Amino acid sequence: MNETHGKDKNMSCDINPPTLGSYGATGYKHISLNSYKLVACPPKLSPRRRIKLARAVAFSTIFFSVLIFLFSGCSHFNKDCDTVYQVATIDSLLNACYDGSVDMRTIKSQGDTGIGTFNQLDGEMIVLDGEIYKIKEDGTISVVADSETTPFCAVTFFKSDKKLELQPGMKFSQLSPALLGSLNYFYAIKITGKFKSVKARSVPMQAKPYPMLVDVVKAQPVFNLEDIEGTAVGFFSPAYVKGINVPGFHLHFISSDLKRGGHILDFEIEKAEMQTDETHGFMMVLPEDETFQHLDLTKDKEKELNKVEK
Ligand SMILES: [Zn+2]
Repeated sequence: MNETHGKDKNMSCDINPPTLGSYGATGYKHISLNSYKLVACPPKLSPRRRIKLARAVAFSTIFFSVLIFLFSGCSHFNKDCDTVYQVATIDSLLNACYDGSVDMRTIKSQGDTGIGTFNQLDGEMIVLDGEIYKIKEDGTISVVADSETTPFCAVTFFKSDKKLELQPGMKFSQLSPALLGSLNYFYAIKITGKFKSVKARSVPMQAKPYPMLVDVVKAQPVFNLEDIEGTAVGFFSPAYVKGINVPGFHLHFISSDLKRGGHILDFEIEKAEMQTDETHGFMMVLPEDETFQHLDLTKDKEKELNKVEK
């Protein structure tokens, strides 16, 4: 017997090579993974010490597993893992599901770039460089509190895969999926630079009973911004997500001075660079409220979507 290992006088097994330190009062301290080697049999521990040891082993296993997960190159479930995180569906929004179901703190943990709207349809959302902005009914912008909620949004951690200079004079309608890669992936998009013009809109906050979105946008405020620097942010989504998201391009605009913006109806480029992030993962969380539970989502809303988005 080389050591008595703290208070445990009943341990009788040799340890080879000798431990680097004592077990201490808890019976499990100072175990070196490289040098600790039992030669004969495990030490005879009292039931209380066995429970303590088992707890320590379980704790260590969980602790080191979490560490490995955090530092394994995919430091967050979504971060840098090319995943779009979406709240609810575009059809639920078209069907007047405007009650927020996920807060901004959660949205920030799932992405630093994206678009959406807020509880009660209170303005357009733009997420840029990890900050969430609200473009209000009058086109002005404010930073959003973490406690605010969203009934619909999509975000991702933006990692630029491709950059290209857009042609001066290019209109929003000329933005082609051919510039991206495949029609079958999601692409997060950032277009930064100077715009000759941006036609944008926002939506006014709604009260219950909520009107359908197609009726809300009939009176939407539209802003014609000219010679403005800023960033268009959003997604290209594949055709097969119809009903879930907006197939094609869906972009929101925010000016460089963070003072103007909105959902883009049209733009004309003066000088701008487009960055794209091809995204292979898609995660959606659905509202748990009664409204969503009883919603009829069987109808094709494509015509309404075109009226709402364009
Ligand atoms: Zn929008």
